[in-house]
Amino acid sequence: MRLAERLQQIKPSATLAVAAKAAELKAAGQDVIGLGTGEPDFATPASACEAAVAAMQAGQTKYTAVDGTAELKQAIIAKLRRDNGLLYSPAEIIVSTGAKQCLFNMLLAMLNPGDEVLVPTPCWVSYPDMVRLVGGVPVEVFASSRQQFKVTPEQLEQAVTPKTRLLMLNSPSNPTGMAYSKDEYRALAEWLRRHPEIAVSSDEIYEHIYWGEEPFISFGSACPELRDRIMIINGVSKAYAMTGWRIGYLAGPEALITAMRKIQSQSTSNACSIAQAAAVGALHGDQHGVTLMRDEFQRRHNWLIQALNDIPGVTCQPCDGAFYAFPSFSEAIVSISGVSDDAELAEWLLEHAQVAVVPGSAFGAPGHLRLSFATSMEVLQEAVKRIRSALS
Ligand code: PMP
Ligand code: GLU
Repeated sequence: MRLAERLQQIKPSATLAVAAKAAELKAAGQDVIGLGTGEPDFATPASACEAAVAAMQAGQTKYTAVDGTAELKQAIIAKLRRDNGLLYSPAEIIVSTGAKQCLFNMLLAMLNPGDEVLVPTPCWVSYPDMVRLVGGVPVEVFASSRQQFKVTPEQLEQAVTPKTRLLMLNSPSNPTGMAYSKDEYRALAEWLRRHPEIAVSSDEIYEHIYWGEEPFISFGSACPELRDRIMIINGVSKAYAMTGWRIGYLAGPEALITAMRKIQSQSTSNACSIAQAAAVGALHGDQHGVTLMRDEFQRRHNWLIQALNDIPGVTCQPCDGAFYAFPSFSEAIVSISGVSDDAELAEWLLEHAQVAVVPGSAFGAPGHLRLSFATSMEVLQEAVKRIRSALS
């Protein structure tokens, strides 16, 4: 079978690959601890499950509007107003099969071959490959741990060319957990004012898993003057532990939403009708569970950062949110014979500590590992114990 050339430019998702590998080893009877997967280990709220059952019983099992049901769009509009102070109309919202599909369709709708996209790195594994898949060129702008993994306008200015069309932001970040402050966003907005041809996507899917000093701020509310070129991406996967339901949404300029709807109408059509009803239940339901989940993630974060820093050769900064620790193992790598980089270290840890983690290079940050703390404290403690003893 001859495959399309575009496939040669991309790799399978490293996060999903690590999760699959850990599951495979576990199924084969090995005592592997998976810290690869980035999905909450909590139950989907009852409000969502009950809404799904009610939708099935009411016969909501047919196609819906391609871009999402009226009820879900209203729930999203209410959420954007309640949590972010943002005002959107139904024509400025699209619902897709996960935030992942929103991002993909957005890129498909925006980029011509050769168009460049500024991707601050470390970034989520899928950003650069999604850009490549639609014929664009990802331009990675690296921000080191010394700058809390956050890019500055000066760095962006150095990377910009006449072909730059988009800047892809993600705060709190997967994999670093760092979040931009209002002032940092304002500095980026100042820079963007001088580049009117560059649009911005702001992936805010970890919004509710956040414990930073300042209250969480959406890029849209920090920079209202850029509204006509901002895309806000969010979904129910992380806030409501609904990764499997596959509901994400994008709020942005109507012309882009129309284009994305056209793409979706010729590819996947609407996201699952029952999952859309469940998302309405989650967004309208009791939000207390979100706070409890956030508190638990923060407790694990505080413990894990300290425990990682206690391992010789490992350094890890505390972060503002999400559920990943992103320590540097550079010094540890030098001390292990047969291991020369983070990818080999991840393999080595799987073999010698039976802990599955994602190599930092998959996110554009060699020398680091990503450890998901979306798992119980007991499991985390056991994982750290194993890593520590393997390294010593
Ligand atoms: N953006 C980021 C930064 C993510 O980590 C994820 C989860 N992998 C997504 C988007 C996609 O989430 P989903 O497709 O489950 O809505
Ligand atoms: N957000 C998760 C992760 O990064 C989910 C897996 C994925 O889609 O990448 O691990």
